[in-house]
Amino acid sequence: MQHCDALIVPRWCVPVVPAGVVLEGHAVAVSEGRIDAILPLEQAQARYQPSALIERPDHVLMPGLVNAHTHAAMTLFRGLADDMHLEAWLRQHIWPAERRWVSAELVRDGTELAIAEMLRGGTTCFGDQYFFPEIVAQAATDLSMRAVVATPVADFKSSWAGSAAEYLQKGTDLVHDPYAEHPLITTAFAPHSTFAMADESFAALRVLADQLDLRVQIHLHESAAEIRESLRDTGKRPFARLDHAGLVNRSLLAVHAVHLDDEEVDRLAAAGVSMAHCPKSNLKLANGVAPVAKYRSAGINVALGTDGAASNNMLDMFSEMQTAALLGKTAADDATAVSAQDALDMATMGGARALRLDRSIGSIEQGKLADLVCVDFDHFNTRPVYDVVSQLVYATASTQVSDAWVGGRHQLENGRLTQIDGHELVARADEWRDRIAASDKHVQEVQ
Ligand SMILES: [Zn+2]
Repeated sequence: MQHCDALIVPRWCVPVVPAGVVLEGHAVAVSEGRIDAILPLEQAQARYQPSALIERPDHVLMPGLVNAHTHAAMTLFRGLADDMHLEAWLRQHIWPAERRWVSAELVRDGTELAIAEMLRGGTTCFGDQYFFPEIVAQAATDLSMRAVVATPVADFKSSWAGSAAEYLQKGTDLVHDPYAEHPLITTAFAPHSTFAMADESFAALRVLADQLDLRVQIHLHESAAEIRESLRDTGKRPFARLDHAGLVNRSLLAVHAVHLDDEEVDRLAAAGVSMAHCPKSNLKLANGVAPVAKYRSAGINVALGTDGAASNNMLDMFSEMQTAALLGKTAADDATAVSAQDALDMATMGGARALRLDRSIGSIEQGKLADLVCVDFDHFNTRPVYDVVSQLVYATASTQVSDAWVGGRHQLENGRLTQIDGHELVARADEWRDRIAASDKHVQEVQ
């Protein structure tokens, strides 16, 4: 008999790779943080002596979901300002709140709240971009969560850095120490948007990104206004400025990309750029509908992201998968566009590719890291089961996630977070609410 750390025995297993496969009567063996084997139950029982036997008789085992774009700490601004236009939302509420409140302390508390919410809802890896990335990385490490932590870059001053050069220097420091070869954390650069960056700042960013072989992610063509203003101010569309800077290549993750012309779609596809689709954020801020089916058929890798909790307002990848499928059909005027399987692919392998982690995560395959999730189908809304993938995308609530593993560590067990004190997180969030609400009221009064 062979030892393994855990033998997980679900009713169904959706490995995502190979595409479209749903296994029944199978078990997944986990050893030293990795998937040792996926095999029929009788063979597993004959081969393995597990330290932990985890039987989940009404459950689906699937890869952990990958939230390719968020601003985790913004959970503390959730519900602060809703139902308003992008401009008013940003200028009268979010930016003043950020100027007043963003600190290492807020980023730590907000990121921890986000990690708890994501794990509880089946997300085991997130791509973040926010101020104080070293605190984001530390919070993720402390809570054993996988994260791609992108250093923000902008020409504007924040409580974290005063110039593009300073953002880049601090980002470079983060890459070298201590996250060069970290089991959970990888790093990237995240210029906020083309309107926050001069051409010289893009040039400096490109040199560093090339030298360090880092991914670059940027909010791009999120709204029609962003394109209009760029044309007015620079004579170029934001995408053209980015292309001119030499940043349109395999390392680029274009966030949103709601409004692209045909030429830009072809250019993105040819350059191997990935795209982070954030359908609920786009809907809530009325920024338009990204034609995802068109992007995918052009060959662009599309990932899914929640964006920050101030513009969504949940970090819920099940809800995001469902919205992506429904919206993708509407955008294409075709009910066969963006199937349940497509939505699941985007939320798993699509995200893993976009974050350059597809050799390690995104599917249940032998040798990959054991980033796994169980979903309990023993609920009214997920019975009867004709099609497991359809059920996951169209009928499942994220509260049905019962278990989550990150690198083999059992982070959520039967609906209970094993490593995080939820009561303490909620108490801290409530304290922040009292302070921020008082200040936001003041902001409204003085305007
Ligand atoms: Zn964003």
